[in-house]
Amino acid sequence: MRLSRYFVPVLKENPTEAQIVSHRLMLRAGMIKQASAGIYSWLPLGFKMLRKLENIVHEEQVRAGHIPMLMPTLQSADLWRESGRYDGYGEEMLRMKDRHGRDMLFSPTAEEMFTDVFRSHVNSYKDLPLTLYQIQWKFRDEIRPRFGVMRGREFLMKDGYNFDLTKEDALHAYNRHLVSYLRTYERMGLQAIPMRADSGPIGGDYTHEFLVLAETGESEVFYDSKVTDIKLGKRDINYDDVAQCQGVMEEFTSLYARTDETHEAAAFDQVPEDRRRIARGIEVGQIFYFGTQYSEPLGATVVNESGERTPVHMGSHGIGVSRLLGALIEANHDENGIIWPEGVTPFHCGIINLKQGDEEADAACQALYDSLTALGLDPLYDDRNERAGGKFATMDLLGLPWRITVGPRGLKNGVVEVTSRRTGDSEEMTPTQAVEKIAQIYANL
Ligand code: ATP
Ligand code: MG
Repeated sequence: MRLSRYFVPVLKENPTEAQIVSHRLMLRAGMIKQASAGIYSWLPLGFKMLRKLENIVHEEQVRAGHIPMLMPTLQSADLWRESGRYDGYGEEMLRMKDRHGRDMLFSPTAEEMFTDVFRSHVNSYKDLPLTLYQIQWKFRDEIRPRFGVMRGREFLMKDGYNFDLTKEDALHAYNRHLVSYLRTYERMGLQAIPMRADSGPIGGDYTHEFLVLAETGESEVFYDSKVTDIKLGKRDINYDDVAQCQGVMEEFTSLYARTDETHEAAAFDQVPEDRRRIARGIEVGQIFYFGTQYSEPLGATVVNESGERTPVHMGSHGIGVSRLLGALIEANHDENGIIWPEGVTPFHCGIINLKQGDEEADAACQALYDSLTALGLDPLYDDRNERAGGKFATMDLLGLPWRITVGPRGLKNGVVEVTSRRTGDSEEMTPTQAVEKIAQIYANL
């Protein structure tokens, strides 16, 4: 992409409405624009990042054997009356009437809708296990929308629902989700710690929240510092392997890690003192096993091996896709702007032309652009007629992990400069070497 032909309305001034750095940087980098409280327009750069996160979430869900589909955002209240949640849900549910006076709502979550599809089409235990999911906009009329996309009213969520014959099978689904979520966050360069959580209105006995440590996080968390040493890394996971998924689950959840809702001072005291940590975290996902809580009232049953009808065991599992974008920036920035991890960046590298209009510099930039593109990479070429300082400031703000700087002086010696956004270290090399270096970095991911 050429910056002169793209649409990135960067802000020079710090927007005063933003209290935390991710919100400020998303506004400044022209990624989002507030439409009304807690509701955002996703401008091209923000939209591009959202799609990238979504793709990673999809890939990891499909890898775990879960099946993508899509539910409507507007739902009839009748189904929610059947499950008994319509009246209890409270003010967070946005309710409306259609022209015939029928009660409708904007889905804040979708247990009922998925259970309804299940009960209409699945009859036999032979069709289980089944996990369906969607990535879809949700609406919750939050009392205090704030921090930009972190606590919006309209937000993008991946929500998945497992249907299993037995509790045992449903707990395997729970573990599968835990592992696939860990992989998802790690691919985004984020460490999200599974913490024992409170099940709240969804109910159920088993639930973990995934928290990214950040000073601006809304949750207070208590944990054994050793949990931060555990990584999934590149190990092979077979999602059908019950024992392996259970093993990973135990490895990640046996140490003390709780949110304030489940924190127990006496248990925390058992953690060696030098490893006790109290910090803040951003909730980027949550998984639940809730048994037959929805399948019973909604009549989601299957015929088992002995020919009896039995309600299925279910769980639901959510990832806050749009919130993750905020969390990523909270975890990756400096005073000059965003620093995207290589695993999720809107463009693989930037190209800065120090002297637009100089024949040699223009040609060298174009050649770099073409070579990178031919290798399947996606560069952002700042070809605007701007002074170098402005170009550097914009590139730093946008946060691409690598930058190639091209100027007449370097070209005289046959070199360009390759700079890491994270370390600020620069290296001179030939344009060919620069292309090879960038290609190598992304090939190794
Ligand atoms: P919170 O406690 O932050 O209000 P929640 O526990 O009510 O969230 P869940 O029902 O667990 O939310 O939804 C799954 C995920 O969706 C959450 O882990 C979070 O990442 C994301 N999410 C929930 N509410 C919002 C929101 N208002 N804005 C952005 N993301 C949200
Ligand atoms: Mg939650």
